Amino acid sequence: MTYWISYRRHLTGAMIVTALTINVPTATAQLTQQQSQILSGIDKAVEAIDKSPRMKTMSPQAKRQLVEFVVGNTLFVMAHEMGHALINQMDMPVLGREEDAADSFAVVTALKMSSGFSTRVLLEAAKGWVLASKRDKKQGNALAFYDEHGLDLQRAYNVVCFMVGADPEKYKTLAADTKLPEERQKTCAWDYKATAWSWDEMLKKHLRAADQPKVAIKVEYQEDEKYAMQIEILRHMGLLEAFAAHAADRYVWPRPFSIVARSCGVPNARWQNGTLTLTLCYELANYFMELFQGYSSQLPRKYRAAR
Ligand SMILES: [Zn+2]
Repeated sequence: MTYWISYRRHLTGAMIVTALTINVPTATAQLTQQQSQILSGIDKAVEAIDKSPRMKTMSPQAKRQLVEFVVGNTLFVMAHEMGHALINQMDMPVLGREEDAADSFAVVTALKMSSGFSTRVLLEAAKGWVLASKRDKKQGNALAFYDEHGLDLQRAYNVVCFMVGADPEKYKTLAADTKLPEERQKTCAWDYKATAWSWDEMLKKHLRAADQPKVAIKVEYQEDEKYAMQIEILRHMGLLEAFAAHAADRYVWPRPFSIVARSCGVPNARWQNGTLTLTLCYELANYFMELFQGYSSQLPRKYRAAR
């Protein structure tokens, strides 16, 4: 079974960084190093954009926001796919839609991390779905009620709901900005609690003890001239390596697997149970860039890109 995500409703990913922290004694140091690597990758990506004639008119601040949007959404996508990988490899029961469960894994993991960085990833992911819904509306694309994923705005609100549910005080401005009704804010707390507890219950027997061996998780970048710059930036950031290291460190996986970055012909990511491969398509970054450039001006002022 494959888990292609419709490019119209992209997914998410693994918060590498995220996961890293939970109950991992070495997490703090690891996190710092990985975050600084990601931040330096963001600088590198902004420099690369500077060289693109198409983006010459963008301000330095707007370029940075664009890169942060792409990186945040890519991280969420990876975390979402890691959720699929866990569900499938650990043979977990799924009550409800697996796509919802994969989203909730990404969100709950990020919220437990509770850092400025992980919060940012969640906000960028929510923003991504808001922009996708604006694009669909403009292009006259009908809502796909039958889709295996929730509708874009539902996925965005799901992120907001869990954030507000996890910490109503911290995210009260977000609740107000997104017009999340007060009565829903209360039930979001229940939703968050039940979901976070469920993931903990499901995963606790798969956590790796310090004396247990780590499974091999291979990271591969398929060379592709068209995406040379993107490959360089991705390698520099070490996102995939961080996900692999975290996953191997944290869980006892029954089988080794691979994380592969390659061109797929469509902007997507997927966990494939047959080949035990988590694929991140190079096209996805372009998709997020176009979404941001085309529609971020329609966001409320405080969430809008700088000019
Ligand atoms: Zn999925």
